[in-house]
Amino acid sequence: MENLTIQDFKKMLSAALEQVKQREDEFSKLDAVIGDGDHGTAIVQALTSVVEAAEKGSEFKTMLNDIGFNVMLQTSGSTSTLIGALFLGMSDAAQGDSLTVSQVKEMFKGGLANVQKQTKAQVGDKTMMDALVPAVQAMEACDTEDVRQLFGCAAQAALKGAADTVNMKANFGRARNYGERSIGYTDSGASSWACMFESFANVL
Ligand SMILES: [Mg+2]
Repeated sequence: MENLTIQDFKKMLSAALEQVKQREDEFSKLDAVIGDGDHGTAIVQALTSVVEAAEKGSEFKTMLNDIGFNVMLQTSGSTSTLIGALFLGMSDAAQGDSLTVSQVKEMFKGGLANVQKQTKAQVGDKTMMDALVPAVQAMEACDTEDVRQLFGCAAQAALKGAADTVNMKANFGRARNYGERSIGYTDSGASSWACMFESFANVL
């Protein structure tokens, strides 16, 4: 698979929404350990807005921009801010209606750079960044011309990153007040973002 088309990308987004919906309760329960227990609902709402805005897209830059703004306008909270930032950053780094492997890498690099403007969380802080950062780094390092394989690299790294949060102590936002109590549980955001990358890889 040499190129990622708009149609492929829409399929990936729909698959991510479907998978996240199936695991909505799990993400909320994880969030309840060190937060307010709304992450399942928040991520499903955000991805619903994403898929809705993607429907009429025919070109990457405009579609990603529409997605980013739609998420931020329709839902509030940190999940939608970060998802919105991801898509707006991806929009800055994308063009056309079909992307090569290196263009896909650039697109996700742009997305991560814009998310990093919204949060100071680093890898190891037990947040969604523990899935997103390794995923984008793994894409960068993935030596392939095959888009399917590229997302396989991303998914594997995101899943490992999320699994690694089990042993971490929450170090960011309100969750850090829970200190040691946060150890032993996967971070809800890292889990849901890893789920997205896993869905991307599996549907291609
Ligand atoms: Mg929450």
